[in-house]
Amino acid sequence: MSAHSATAGAPTLIGLPYDASSSHQRGAAEGPAHIRQALHSDSTNLWSEALLDLGAEGVLGDAGDVALERPERARADIEAAITRLVDQGLQPIALGGDHSVTYPIVRALARAHPGLAILHFDAHPDLYDEFQGDRYSHACPFARILEERLAQRLVQVGIRTMNGHQREQADRYGVEVIAMREWRDDQALAFSGPLYVSIDVDVLDPAFAPGVSHREPGGMSVRQLVGAIQRVTGTVIGADVVECNPRRDPLDITGLVCAKLVKEVATVMRRRGNRTEYERAGSPEAREWR
Ligand code: MN
Ligand code: MN
Repeated sequence: MSAHSATAGAPTLIGLPYDASSSHQRGAAEGPAHIRQALHSDSTNLWSEALLDLGAEGVLGDAGDVALERPERARADIEAAITRLVDQGLQPIALGGDHSVTYPIVRALARAHPGLAILHFDAHPDLYDEFQGDRYSHACPFARILEERLAQRLVQVGIRTMNGHQREQADRYGVEVIAMREWRDDQALAFSGPLYVSIDVDVLDPAFAPGVSHREPGGMSVRQLVGAIQRVTGTVIGADVVECNPRRDPLDITGLVCAKLVKEVATVMRRRGNRTEYERAGSPEAREWR
Protein backbone atom coordinates (compact mmCIF):
# COMPACT_ATOMS: atom_id res chain seq x y z
CA MET A 1 0.00 0.00 0.00
CA SER A 2 1.32 3.44 -0.89
CA ALA A 3 -0.39 6.80 -0.82
CA HIS A 4 -0.49 8.24 -4.31
CA SER A 5 0.04 11.91 -4.99
CA ALA A 6 -0.85 13.18 -1.53
CA THR A 7 1.14 15.92 0.14
CA ALA A 8 1.74 16.01 3.89
CA GLY A 9 -1.44 16.60 5.87
CA ALA A 10 -3.60 15.73 2.87
CA PRO A 11 -6.84 13.83 3.24
CA THR A 12 -6.23 10.37 1.80
CA LEU A 13 -8.74 7.73 0.79
CA ILE A 14 -8.25 4.27 2.21
CA GLY A 15 -10.65 1.48 1.27
CA LEU A 16 -11.75 -1.06 3.89
CA PRO A 17 -13.54 -3.84 1.99
CA TYR A 18 -14.96 -5.58 5.05
CA ASP A 19 -18.51 -6.63 5.94
CA ALA A 20 -18.05 -9.73 8.11
CA SER A 21 -19.35 -7.83 11.17
CA SER A 22 -22.66 -6.95 9.52
CA SER A 23 -25.72 -8.33 11.29
CA HIS A 24 -28.29 -8.32 8.47
CA GLN A 25 -26.90 -8.32 4.94
CA ARG A 26 -23.51 -8.52 3.27
CA GLY A 27 -22.34 -6.27 0.46
CA ALA A 28 -20.70 -3.31 2.22
CA ALA A 29 -17.30 -4.84 1.41
CA GLU A 30 -17.95 -3.82 -2.20
CA GLY A 31 -18.41 -0.20 -1.07
CA PRO A 32 -14.89 1.18 -1.65
CA ALA A 33 -14.81 0.22 -5.35
CA HIS A 34 -18.36 1.51 -5.85
CA ILE A 35 -17.60 4.88 -4.23
CA ARG A 36 -14.33 5.35 -6.14
CA GLN A 37 -16.11 4.59 -9.41
CA ALA A 38 -18.71 7.28 -8.64
CA LEU A 39 -16.03 9.74 -7.52
CA HIS A 40 -14.19 9.41 -10.82
CA SER A 41 -17.30 9.17 -12.98
CA ASP A 42 -17.51 11.44 -15.99
CA SER A 43 -21.05 12.30 -14.90
CA THR A 44 -19.65 14.88 -12.50
CA ASN A 45 -16.35 16.57 -11.59
CA LEU A 46 -13.95 16.58 -8.67
CA TRP A 47 -14.63 20.10 -7.45
CA SER A 48 -16.35 20.55 -4.10
CA GLU A 49 -19.05 23.14 -3.53
CA ALA A 50 -16.48 25.50 -1.93
CA LEU A 51 -14.53 25.43 -5.21
CA LEU A 52 -11.72 23.18 -4.10
CA ASP A 53 -10.39 21.05 -6.98
CA LEU A 54 -9.87 17.64 -5.39
CA GLY A 55 -8.44 16.38 -8.66
CA ALA A 56 -5.48 18.75 -8.47
CA GLU A 57 -2.08 17.29 -7.64
CA GLY A 58 -1.58 16.53 -3.96
CA VAL A 59 -5.02 17.66 -2.76
CA LEU A 60 -6.67 14.27 -2.17
CA GLY A 61 -4.57 11.11 -1.95
CA ASP A 62 -5.59 7.49 -2.39
CA ALA A 63 -3.80 4.75 -0.47
CA GLY A 64 -5.81 2.00 -2.15
CA ASP A 65 -7.59 -0.78 -0.27
CA VAL A 66 -6.36 -2.62 2.80
CA ALA A 67 -6.27 -6.36 2.07
CA LEU A 68 -8.69 -7.85 4.61
CA GLU A 69 -9.04 -11.44 3.48
CA ARG A 70 -8.79 -12.81 7.02
CA PRO A 71 -11.76 -11.55 9.05
CA GLU A 72 -10.22 -12.64 12.35
CA ARG A 73 -7.32 -10.25 11.69
CA ALA A 74 -9.35 -7.42 10.17
CA ARG A 75 -9.44 -5.07 13.14
CA ALA A 76 -5.70 -5.40 13.78
CA ASP A 77 -4.96 -4.91 10.08
CA ILE A 78 -7.16 -1.81 9.88
CA GLU A 79 -5.56 -0.27 12.97
CA ALA A 80 -2.08 -0.94 11.57
CA ALA A 81 -2.96 0.51 8.15
CA ILE A 82 -4.38 3.71 9.65
CA THR A 83 -1.33 4.02 11.91
CA ARG A 84 0.95 3.76 8.86
CA LEU A 85 -1.03 6.49 7.11
CA VAL A 86 -0.84 8.79 10.13
CA ASP A 87 2.90 8.09 10.44
CA GLN A 88 3.26 9.33 6.84
CA GLY A 89 1.59 12.59 7.87
CA LEU A 90 -1.63 11.79 5.99
CA GLN A 91 -5.23 12.05 7.21
CA PRO A 92 -7.57 9.15 6.45
CA ILE A 93 -10.92 9.26 4.75
CA ALA A 94 -11.90 5.60 5.14
CA LEU A 95 -14.34 4.07 2.69
CA GLY A 96 -16.35 1.24 4.28
CA GLY A 97 -17.05 -1.41 4.77
CA ASP A 98 -19.52 -1.90 7.56
CA HIS A 99 -19.47 0.38 10.59
CA SER A 100 -17.38 -2.00 12.70
CA VAL A 101 -14.30 -0.51 10.98
CA THR A 102 -14.66 2.74 12.92
CA TYR A 103 -13.43 1.21 16.18
CA PRO A 104 -9.95 0.20 14.93
CA ILE A 105 -9.65 3.46 12.96
CA VAL A 106 -10.34 5.51 16.08
CA ARG A 107 -7.93 3.37 18.12
CA ALA A 108 -5.18 4.40 15.71
CA LEU A 109 -6.19 8.06 15.55
CA ALA A 110 -6.72 8.53 19.31
CA ARG A 111 -3.04 7.78 19.91
CA ALA A 112 -2.00 10.59 17.57
CA HIS A 113 -4.71 13.05 18.65
CA PRO A 114 -5.29 13.32 22.41
CA GLY A 115 -8.62 14.93 23.26
CA LEU A 116 -10.27 13.56 20.14
CA ALA A 117 -14.00 14.22 19.69
CA ILE A 118 -16.29 12.28 17.35
CA LEU A 119 -19.22 13.51 15.28
CA HIS A 120 -21.29 10.49 14.22
CA PHE A 121 -24.06 10.62 11.61
CA ASP A 122 -26.29 7.52 11.65
CA ALA A 123 -29.87 6.27 11.86
CA HIS A 124 -28.56 3.93 14.58
CA PRO A 125 -26.68 4.68 17.82
CA ASP A 126 -24.38 1.61 17.37
CA LEU A 127 -23.98 1.51 21.15
CA TYR A 128 -24.89 -2.13 21.87
CA ASP A 129 -22.66 -3.77 24.44
CA GLU A 130 -22.95 -6.85 22.21
CA PHE A 131 -25.18 -7.75 19.29
CA GLN A 132 -26.11 -11.33 18.36
CA GLY A 133 -23.22 -12.49 20.54
CA ASP A 134 -20.64 -10.25 18.82
CA ARG A 135 -19.00 -7.40 20.76
CA TYR A 136 -17.37 -6.16 17.55
CA SER A 137 -20.54 -6.10 15.46
CA HIS A 138 -21.31 -3.04 13.36
CA ALA A 139 -23.98 -2.36 16.02
CA CYS A 140 -21.28 -1.93 18.73
CA PRO A 141 -18.32 0.26 17.62
CA PHE A 142 -19.14 3.30 19.74
CA ALA A 143 -19.58 1.19 22.89
CA ARG A 144 -16.02 -0.11 22.38
CA ILE A 145 -14.67 3.39 21.67
CA LEU A 146 -16.28 4.87 24.77
CA GLU A 147 -15.36 2.08 27.20
CA GLU A 148 -11.72 2.48 26.10
CA ARG A 149 -12.03 6.26 26.52
CA LEU A 150 -10.75 6.85 23.00
CA ALA A 151 -12.96 9.93 22.58
CA GLN A 152 -13.54 12.69 25.06
CA ARG A 153 -16.85 13.55 23.40
CA LEU A 154 -19.32 11.74 21.11
CA VAL A 155 -22.10 13.63 19.34
CA GLN A 156 -24.59 11.53 17.39
CA VAL A 157 -26.83 13.06 14.71
CA GLY A 158 -29.83 11.64 12.88
CA ILE A 159 -30.65 8.85 15.34
CA ARG A 160 -34.11 7.31 14.91
CA THR A 161 -33.83 3.71 16.16
CA MET A 162 -32.98 4.29 19.82
CA ASN A 163 -34.10 1.57 22.27
CA GLY A 164 -33.93 1.03 26.01
CA HIS A 165 -30.51 -0.65 26.18
CA GLN A 166 -28.81 1.86 23.92
CA ARG A 167 -30.46 4.79 25.77
CA GLU A 168 -28.88 3.41 28.97
CA GLN A 169 -25.53 3.12 27.20
CA ALA A 170 -25.82 6.71 25.92
CA ASP A 171 -26.55 7.94 29.45
CA ARG A 172 -23.75 5.85 30.93
CA TYR A 173 -21.14 7.29 28.59
CA GLY A 174 -22.52 10.83 28.33
CA VAL A 175 -23.26 10.60 24.60
CA GLU A 176 -24.83 13.75 23.16
CA VAL A 177 -27.67 12.46 20.99
CA ILE A 178 -29.33 14.78 18.48
CA ALA A 179 -32.21 12.58 17.39
CA MET A 180 -33.62 13.01 13.89
CA ARG A 181 -36.90 14.27 15.37
CA GLU A 182 -34.98 17.08 17.10
CA TRP A 183 -32.90 18.10 14.09
CA ARG A 184 -32.98 21.73 12.96
CA ASP A 185 -31.33 22.82 9.74
CA ASP A 186 -29.40 25.54 11.60
CA GLN A 187 -28.24 23.10 14.31
CA ALA A 188 -24.83 24.17 15.60
CA LEU A 189 -22.14 21.45 15.42
CA ALA A 190 -19.44 23.21 17.38
CA PHE A 191 -16.21 21.46 18.31
CA SER A 192 -12.78 22.64 19.32
CA GLY A 193 -9.68 20.53 18.92
CA PRO A 194 -9.28 17.37 16.84
CA LEU A 195 -12.48 15.91 15.41
CA TYR A 196 -13.26 12.62 13.67
CA VAL A 197 -16.38 12.52 11.47
CA SER A 198 -18.04 9.13 11.00
CA ILE A 199 -20.75 9.03 8.35
CA ASP A 200 -23.00 5.97 8.17
CA VAL A 201 -24.92 6.71 4.98
CA ASP A 202 -28.07 5.18 6.42
CA VAL A 203 -28.41 8.49 8.30
CA LEU A 204 -29.92 9.64 5.00
CA ASP A 205 -33.51 8.88 4.20
CA PRO A 206 -33.60 5.75 2.02
CA ALA A 207 -35.33 7.87 -0.61
CA PHE A 208 -31.94 9.60 -1.09
CA ALA A 209 -29.64 6.65 -0.40
CA PRO A 210 -31.29 3.24 -0.86
CA GLY A 211 -27.98 1.40 -1.17
CA VAL A 212 -27.59 0.49 2.50
CA SER A 213 -28.16 -2.74 4.43
CA HIS A 214 -30.53 -1.21 7.01
CA ARG A 215 -32.98 1.17 5.33
CA GLU A 216 -34.55 3.37 8.00
CA PRO A 217 -37.22 5.82 6.86
CA GLY A 218 -37.47 9.36 8.18
CA GLY A 219 -33.86 10.41 7.71
CA MET A 220 -31.85 13.38 6.49
CA SER A 221 -31.83 14.73 2.99
CA VAL A 222 -28.50 14.90 1.16
CA ARG A 223 -28.74 18.69 1.41
CA GLN A 224 -29.19 18.59 5.19
CA LEU A 225 -26.20 16.27 5.61
CA VAL A 226 -23.93 18.23 3.27
CA GLY A 227 -24.95 21.45 5.03
CA ALA A 228 -24.12 19.92 8.41
CA ILE A 229 -20.66 18.80 7.22
CA GLN A 230 -19.94 22.25 5.79
CA ARG A 231 -20.93 23.95 9.08
CA VAL A 232 -18.84 21.77 11.40
CA THR A 233 -16.26 23.66 13.45
CA GLY A 234 -13.12 22.13 14.93
CA THR A 235 -10.17 20.50 13.23
CA VAL A 236 -11.29 17.47 11.24
CA ILE A 237 -8.35 15.04 11.26
CA GLY A 238 -10.09 11.99 9.81
CA ALA A 239 -13.40 10.67 8.55
CA ASP A 240 -15.19 7.62 7.31
CA VAL A 241 -18.06 6.98 4.92
CA VAL A 242 -19.45 3.54 5.76
CA GLU A 243 -22.30 1.11 5.13
CA CYS A 244 -22.71 1.80 1.41
CA ASN A 245 -24.03 -1.50 0.02
CA PRO A 246 -23.70 -1.60 -3.79
CA ARG A 247 -25.89 -4.73 -3.99
CA ARG A 248 -28.80 -2.54 -2.89
CA ASP A 249 -27.91 0.39 -5.16
CA PRO A 250 -29.11 -0.57 -8.65
CA LEU A 251 -29.18 3.01 -9.98
CA ASP A 252 -25.80 3.97 -8.41
CA ILE A 253 -27.53 6.82 -6.54
CA THR A 254 -25.95 5.94 -3.21
CA GLY A 255 -22.48 5.65 -4.74
CA LEU A 256 -22.81 9.18 -6.10
CA VAL A 257 -24.08 10.44 -2.75
CA CYS A 258 -21.05 8.88 -1.02
CA ALA A 259 -18.71 10.47 -3.56
CA LYS A 260 -20.25 13.85 -2.81
CA LEU A 261 -19.84 13.28 0.94
CA VAL A 262 -16.18 12.40 0.37
CA LYS A 263 -15.62 15.64 -1.56
CA GLU A 264 -17.32 17.79 1.06
CA VAL A 265 -15.62 16.19 4.06
CA ALA A 266 -12.24 16.36 2.29
CA THR A 267 -12.81 20.07 1.77
CA VAL A 268 -13.50 20.61 5.48
CA MET A 269 -10.31 18.66 6.27
CA ARG A 270 -8.27 20.91 3.96
CA ARG A 271 -9.50 24.10 5.57
CA ARG A 272 -6.77 24.09 8.16
CA GLY A 273 -3.57 25.70 6.95
CA ASN A 274 -4.48 25.42 3.28
CA ARG A 275 -6.38 28.60 2.63
CA THR A 276 -4.45 29.64 -0.43
CA GLU A 277 -6.15 27.21 -2.76
CA TYR A 278 -9.54 28.58 -1.75
CA GLU A 279 -8.29 32.11 -2.03
CA ARG A 280 -7.07 31.44 -5.56
CA ALA A 281 -10.49 30.05 -6.38
CA GLY A 282 -12.17 33.02 -4.69
CA SER A 283 -14.77 30.92 -2.92
CA PRO A 284 -17.11 32.43 -0.30
CA GLU A 285 -15.62 30.10 2.33
CA ALA A 286 -12.16 31.46 1.63
CA ARG A 287 -13.38 34.95 2.42
CA GLU A 288 -14.94 33.67 5.66
CA TRP A 289 -11.79 31.84 6.72
CA ARG A 290 -9.39 34.72 6.22
MN1 MN B 1 -23.75 2.63 11.90
MN1 MN C 1 -26.76 2.81 10.58
